[in-house]
Amino acid sequence: NYIAVSDLANLINLKIEKLTKDLTKMGFANVTHNYILSREYVELVLMNYNYELGKQALVVTPDNVYDELRSAVNPKNLSRRPPIVTIMGHVDHGKTTILDYLRKTSIVSEEHGGITQHIGAFQVETPVSKRKITFLDTPGHAAFLKMRERGANITDIIVLVVSLEDSIMPQTIEALKHAAKSGSQMIVAITKIDRISNTKERDRAIEKVTIDLMNNEVPIEKMGGDVQVVPISARTGENMNLLEESIIALSDVMDLKAERSNKAVAEGFVIESEVKKSVGNVSTVLVTKGILLKGSILICGNTYCKVRSMSNEQGASVLLADPSTPVEITGWKHMPAAGDEVLQVSSESIAKKYVAKKLAVLQMAKEAKNVDRINEQRAMEALAKAEREQHNEEPEEHEEPEPNTGPEKVNFIVKADVSGSVEAIVESISSLGNEEVQCNVLSASAGIPNESDMKLARLTDSKLLCFNLGSLPYDVINNKDKIEVEQYNVIYKLIEGVTETLRSRLKPIY
Ligand code: GDP
Repeated sequence: NYIAVSDLANLINLKIEKLTKDLTKMGFANVTHNYILSREYVELVLMNYNYELGKQALVVTPDNVYDELRSAVNPKNLSRRPPIVTIMGHVDHGKTTILDYLRKTSIVSEEHGGITQHIGAFQVETPVSKRKITFLDTPGHAAFLKMRERGANITDIIVLVVSLEDSIMPQTIEALKHAAKSGSQMIVAITKIDRISNTKERDRAIEKVTIDLMNNEVPIEKMGGDVQVVPISARTGENMNLLEESIIALSDVMDLKAERSNKAVAEGFVIESEVKKSVGNVSTVLVTKGILLKGSILICGNTYCKVRSMSNEQGASVLLADPSTPVEITGWKHMPAAGDEVLQVSSESIAKKYVAKKLAVLQMAKEAKNVDRINEQRAMEALAKAEREQHNEEPEEHEEPEPNTGPEKVNFIVKADVSGSVEAIVESISSLGNEEVQCNVLSASAGIPNESDMKLARLTDSKLLCFNLGSLPYDVINNKDKIEVEQYNVIYKLIEGVTETLRSRLKPIY
């Protein structure tokens, strides 16, 4: 729970000299490289930097620790990339059959004469336009749900399959809802058209599915919308070319581009990962930006990787992976989680540093949550007790009043700018006091004191400690209940203030 200034500087990518200077400015005395900071101060220092660096109240969270590693997009490096496609639809409507057909007939697989392995995604080359399409074959995977929760959507186009025989079913509607929310474009494939050999009957059945789609507010092309409808059979292959070319046409309209340059920091997502007996931790990474090379250093979640090998879905080794390309890579220290983002860094030591930083931030976030929870509980209890006392309601009948032998408790309510400082303050002052008088934090939270804070303060005779809140509202400072409000901007001054309050309550010694 303690860290030397030099280590902290390292952790937050700052020159030690700058950090020591800033610490001195913040009110720390005699700061040297070996100066030891306790965790609550570290939290505070971290916050300070984010204010400074981001020029706005940007707080480091486990989700954004790595953000500063990304490179800004350079429009010069942008080039066309293959669309990333997911197939969705009701069970048994033909998703697997379509993927199998594409894998088998893809020119990419013919070249290698191999059978496509399941690595979570694969690419095909379209028969006519000779363009690439990347298909994801794990759309229902938990990883994708996790990504969606974070607002990351790597799917450009959803192919919604609807069986000619069943038309729209419950999972079709689910898929439609998902498509609308995800921001992906959609193409409808009416599948299993080989089931009806009579052309007239078949056309009638296709017409019925089309009407059902319209009734479900799918803006199909025929009605002036932009959703293409392609009747196909994955069994006979009929119109499969057309489906592939429709995907390409749509991707051109979407103008899909990414930085295809090793000047851009490579980014991607883990779409699958597993332990393989002979090679260890293996994951499929779908590149979204930059170029991955063998030997690249990647960080992901709480782990990192020096890419030892890269191979495609045919199991053939590849030298580079550019945007929209899925590759299976080895070399991970620990197993990365599917759905997590991958970022390239320039060296192994930077990777280690950032992973350590992420772990530290995760730990802090966990503790902050705990403190919030405990404080909330404490405040509720204190409020209930105070209200009981005010109404003269005895909680239990005939309770013997306990002889008051413990220390006198001085009540405080803490309000600060952000939860990080709340936590730091509570940790610093909770233990203040001695056997005669003790600090008792009844409630602690972020924000300007509100009505319930004032009520609690009045009922419990608490002092209100405000930290970094700027100018407070008039009715807080000049409250009619004579609640004492103290304002601080430096944490050690606050600690001194509380210590002084406690000292003033000590019985004088004659
Ligand atoms: P999923 O649950 O959506 O992945 O559906 P599947 O691809 O497993 O297909 C369900 C059943 O429909 C299987 O028995 C397939 O062989 C069959 N099927 C899928 N597509 C076609 C098609 O185009 N024509 C015919 N006749 N059968 C199909």
